[in-house]
Amino acid sequence: MNVITSIRELKKHLRREQKNGRTIGFVATMGYLHEGHRRLMQESSHNHDVTVVSVFVNPLQFGPGEDFETYPRDEERDKTVCREEGVDVVFMPSAEEMYPKKMASSIAVEKGTDVLCGRSRPGHFSGVATVVMKLLQIVRPDAAYFGQKDAQQAAVLETMAADYNLDTSIRAVPTVRENDGLAKSSRNVRLSEAERKEAPAIYESLKAGVDTYRQLGKQKAVEQVSGTLAGLSGTVDYVELWTYPDLQEPGKEAERLVLAAAVQYDHARLIDNIIFIP
Ligand code: AMP
Repeated sequence: MNVITSIRELKKHLRREQKNGRTIGFVATMGYLHEGHRRLMQESSHNHDVTVVSVFVNPLQFGPGEDFETYPRDEERDKTVCREEGVDVVFMPSAEEMYPKKMASSIAVEKGTDVLCGRSRPGHFSGVATVVMKLLQIVRPDAAYFGQKDAQQAAVLETMAADYNLDTSIRAVPTVRENDGLAKSSRNVRLSEAERKEAPAIYESLKAGVDTYRQLGKQKAVEQVSGTLAGLSGTVDYVELWTYPDLQEPGKEAERLVLAAAVQYDHARLIDNIIFIP
């Protein structure tokens, strides 16, 4: 496995692979890798000759007062996980390598950011889109794999890829969960024992919310999930239901919907969602 920190070296290595006719799958992460990330790597390895994983905590996507400094990091363990998954190249750039000077341009995400995480994290998706665009230019993968756990992120990136006629196909992979249903997340380690114990209620309430939607509609479903989550010790950031991936008000015709929630705990913000057909 190659561990590469320089953009120049990574490009050189991957252009050689592509010249030799190898296809490339790409997984972008912020490290502290878990089972969810492993699933993305497995999808990529299954479909491509070469799998590239980036580990980079992207300062652009954190707002003031968010957890950029304290985001969990463990590069050695991350390398071990990648090695175990048969990853070919791990790209671990420094912030200076990615942003040698302040970017003079960025991707402005203009649709689908006034809902869900976009509402409470202004600028977040612009930061995500900008770093992903940069990474896709460097890696030039045939496909890039993202988790459905970050449903809005996958939707924004799918739209960006279409808007910019990118050659990379954006693929969403279902959420990997703990045995008790809690969505795997690098931030789960920052939950207290009591918070960790109650956190599976987020997914439980979303599942119940989908049933309620089918019987009684959007308002009742959102009210019910909000009511259940209000009983947790964390603060409910949002409970929302939209079409997916457009993130619009659901109409009458059958379409994919997303029911999503975010709960802010003392040291971790948890998000989860269910994408379903009504
Ligand atoms: P992160 O390191 O949190 O930025 O996540 C990197 C990628 O892994 C993103 O595409 C996430 O959506 C995805 N991911 C994170 N958690 C999970 C999970 N539990 N199941 C599937 N994919 C995930």
